[in-house]
Amino acid sequence: MGIGIDLGGTNIKGGIVDEQGKILRELSVKTDSARGYADVKNDLLALIKELLLQAPAEQAIGIGIPGILSADGSTVVSCPNLGWKNVDLKKDLEDGLTQEVQLVNDATAACIAEATFGSMAGCDNTMMITLGTGVGGGLILNGRIITGAHGVATEVGHMIMAENFYSCGCGKNGCLETFASATALVRYVKMRLQNGVTSPLIAEKKLDGKKIIDAAKAGDPLATEAVDRLAKYLGWAIANISDIVDPEIYAIGGGLSNAGGFLLEKIRIEAHKRLTYPHNAIPEIVLARFRNEAGMIGAANLGKYR
Ligand code: BGC
Ligand code: ZN
Repeated sequence: MGIGIDLGGTNIKGGIVDEQGKILRELSVKTDSARGYADVKNDLLALIKELLLQAPAEQAIGIGIPGILSADGSTVVSCPNLGWKNVDLKKDLEDGLTQEVQLVNDATAACIAEATFGSMAGCDNTMMITLGTGVGGGLILNGRIITGAHGVATEVGHMIMAENFYSCGCGKNGCLETFASATALVRYVKMRLQNGVTSPLIAEKKLDGKKIIDAAKAGDPLATEAVDRLAKYLGWAIANISDIVDPEIYAIGGGLSNAGGFLLEKIRIEAHKRLTYPHNAIPEIVLARFRNEAGMIGAANLGKYR
């Protein structure tokens, strides 16, 4: 049993999770990137303390972070969508607790959950891609988590795909995240609406990824264009990743994965068009079984891979 936390752009989810990946208790608090580090850290601490009250003593605590960690896992080097740079989150949390906390990249945590209990169980070469506020990547190759020499391996959200009409939170232009995240969907639709494209199902107010997906499912042309564009770039990215590390299976998670088979099919078609494979052994592309909860479940079970 362990405590797993998933720190996201809009909320922090925490749960008590058993060794089979079952969530026994779940809590969540709203947050937003406009709040500074100190406030979010205090929210995290309060959530952990609340969960500890309900868990048997001495739980392992893992926290999925939407960003790059230092090699020793103590410092959050950069979180593009929270605006954090070089914060000592591990120490700052441990100062308020009697237990140790372990930090892990959020998509790596999701990969651990899916490879251990979820849709990639039984596979040794597994790639997780999360589509949410950002785009995250987690990779297990030959049973080992890959984080690279500087913690930057599998930062697939920041692979450069093409020039884009807005720049990424990381400061670069052209990142996959600006084509294939929930944020990217909203930015694209807003840009098109501002340029005079009309849409029967989408008004500019309070747009989010789910509304755009739902409108695309209902046949709205602008929403369809936006979702197809996302699938195209993600398909390219999957083909590129396969050319480098050749995973046997990809799981698609994060908030946008709630779109289900509708989005998955589009991504599969786009990836299949571009995979290099000269034979039939192409990688599988599936939905994450735990969808947007994979990060929390994996963070509670880091021991499985350490
Ligand atoms: C970050 C990744 C993270 C992903 C999903 C990206 O912007 O760079 O580290 O996994 O967002 O949260
Ligand atoms: Zn970027």
